[in-house]
Amino acid sequence: MTTKSFILSLCAISAALTITSCTDHSRSGFPELDEWAREVVSEKYNELGYPVNQDIRLKGFYEWYTANNLDIAGLNNVGDPFSGKPSALLSSHKFEREVIEYFAPFYGIDKDEVWGLISNSGTDGNCNGIYFGVNYLRNKTGKEPVFYVSDEAHYSNMRLAHVMNLDIRLIRSDDMGRMIPEELDKAIDPTRPCLIVYAMGSTFKGAIDDQAALNAVLAKYPGMEVYRHVDAALFGGYLPFTEHRDMVDKRVLNYQSIAISGHKFFGMDEPNGLLLTTREVYDNQTQFDVPYLNADMKMISCSRSSTSALKFWWLIKNVGSGQWEKDAAQLLDNTAYFKEQLDKIGYPCWLDEYSNTVIFKRPCQDLVSKYYLACSSDERFGGDLCHIVVMQHVSRDRIDNFIRDLSASLDK
Ligand SMILES: *Cc1c(COP(=O)(O)O)cnc(C)c1O
Repeated sequence: MTTKSFILSLCAISAALTITSCTDHSRSGFPELDEWAREVVSEKYNELGYPVNQDIRLKGFYEWYTANNLDIAGLNNVGDPFSGKPSALLSSHKFEREVIEYFAPFYGIDKDEVWGLISNSGTDGNCNGIYFGVNYLRNKTGKEPVFYVSDEAHYSNMRLAHVMNLDIRLIRSDDMGRMIPEELDKAIDPTRPCLIVYAMGSTFKGAIDDQAALNAVLAKYPGMEVYRHVDAALFGGYLPFTEHRDMVDKRVLNYQSIAISGHKFFGMDEPNGLLLTTREVYDNQTQFDVPYLNADMKMISCSRSSTSALKFWWLIKNVGSGQWEKDAAQLLDNTAYFKEQLDKIGYPCWLDEYSNTVIFKRPCQDLVSKYYLACSSDERFGGDLCHIVVMQHVSRDRIDNFIRDLSASLDK
């Protein structure tokens, strides 16, 4: 072998090694899958109509997860993370419990008093909260509760009342979407226990029920047993990190459970959520021993995600309350900015207090499609409407782009 051919063959070997050691993981071998992935990533910042935080901060988590081969381990958080008993399956219960204990004080619940879990979604949190309320009231009074919720609350509450066959009283809300206290008063049946959901906020307008005023109505019926569940899927994420934190504080509002989505403010990359309640509520549930799981299964789901618990724990350690305070301030600031820009061009728009949801007259279909706008209509606001939910990724630049597109569509 000549020196030249020796060097050439060395090059060939090292090139081959480079190729095998740098496999391109972005190519799955399924072009339609790769194409879809590229589209999602290039489109994500256009999504303005739904409360999805697109500033996901979980890259480090995924690197850690795969570096530790957890991607080839089957985990499941079935059962009570607070039971202290070994789980029937491999779980991350320890971290789930720490997550619940970390968040409890942000909602005015003592660490020693809290019970909770990481739910599959805001809806799943509502499902557990409402179901706990029914059992709590039944076990305390021996009577079936009446279920009160506003007509602008998220539809999951009505759906769940249907599934549980509850006696529902839909209470009318005012123009801006808040339950009307006088209407609640008219609907109250004081002979039966009261299970009430407070909307925080309402789905389309982003209204927050005036819990103090509604509590004052309930206080007129001291003999009536009450359970309050707060549906705080979106607002329950950011309000604890603002000066308005009293609005989700159990010591101030005296609610029994609260549900918050993980994939809204907190920036989970897939659905999950927090359900927080108290030991007292949990201990007044009907016992549900399942021997083969070695557990008392008071919650509704059997399997729950271990990965969600780990991601939440990761975010607490790597993002944490300091950053969430900044996020919350920025999101409310940008909401005010967006409203100002719409006002400047004289475009009809409305904004509820404490809300990051701006509602406005529905623009042309091209804009609705381009920005994934959520639509509704309300004659009190002149008919067809849309809204934008100002999440972390809805920066001033993106707001300016939207306003430019909107102005251009009006000139046409
Ligand atoms: C988003 C939302 C829900 C539903 O939560 P999911 O996590 O999507 O199931 C329920 N209530 C309110 C107030 C919401 O904003």
